[in-house]
Amino acid sequence: MPPYAKKSLGQHFLKHDHICDRIAALVQASADDWIIEIGPGPGALTRAVERLPHARLFLLEKDDRFARERQQEAAGNTQAILTDALRFPWARLSPARSWKIIGNLPYNVASPMIWDMAAQCRALRRAAFMVQKEVGQRLAAAPGNGHYGALSVWVQSYWKPRMEFVVGPGAFSPPPKVDSAVLSFAPLPQENLPRHPEALARLIKLFFQQRRKQLGSIARRAPWPGVPEALEVAGIDARLRPEQLTVADFQRICDGWSWGIAQYNGPSGNMEMDEEKDCTAKS
Ligand code: SAM
Repeated sequence: MPPYAKKSLGQHFLKHDHICDRIAALVQASADDWIIEIGPGPGALTRAVERLPHARLFLLEKDDRFARERQQEAAGNTQAILTDALRFPWARLSPARSWKIIGNLPYNVASPMIWDMAAQCRALRRAAFMVQKEVGQRLAAAPGNGHYGALSVWVQSYWKPRMEFVVGPGAFSPPPKVDSAVLSFAPLPQENLPRHPEALARLIKLFFQQRRKQLGSIARRAPWPGVPEALEVAGIDARLRPEQLTVADFQRICDGWSWGIAQYNGPSGNMEMDEEKDCTAKS
């Protein structure tokens, strides 16, 4: 019998070890890796990760039943943490460690979780996530593709995603209504990352809220000054539509948006963290 699943926490549990092993292999674990699993639930993927070489494994679980159970069954170098991964301080993971992140993510919050992690987790070496197939298509979409949108541009500004494989509903208990996809992510070099993340986030949300309109028309009606000029500075044809621009085009527009850069230049949150202190709060 599957354990009672909470719909509000997106609980669909993987049934087959071979699928868990395929997902786990995608983080390319090595003996000095510090791995974080988001949402371990009853632990099928956890056990697959524990079979791989690694130094430490931290499990972030919001459901206290599972956090407790995982801690009871944890291997010596595994630590379960009762927490909301949406509030985890990704920016504070020490770059001195080799961090990998994995998870069969709760589908209802996978997009905001990946959005935050991509921008904040500078210490990441590699990640692998299972998400709803449609979200996976958005994460990996290229310009011109119908799935290409704000999530694609944002995540691809930080990480290079790769669609790895698709899994049908029968692989889960209880089965979800839709297919799922597994993707791997490799971080981009630091020098390619957005210089003004908050301004960029505002711009791409603005443009993709009206994805069928021309850039010039969206820019003229923007709630902030300077957007039409930013298009011009970037040398972007104002008759194009948002879905035709590359990730680099959006970054160029942002870099030319002097009003936005002055207004939204808060710290991007790349702080140091002593992970021995911050990652050992027991459930
Ligand atoms: N890893 C297990 C598996 O593959 O069978 C469970 C995956 S299930 C799709 C998602 C898991 O994420 C559940 O265990 C759920 O309780 C947990 N979860 C949901 N929201 C969460 C959050 N905000 N932070 C941490 N864990 C969360």
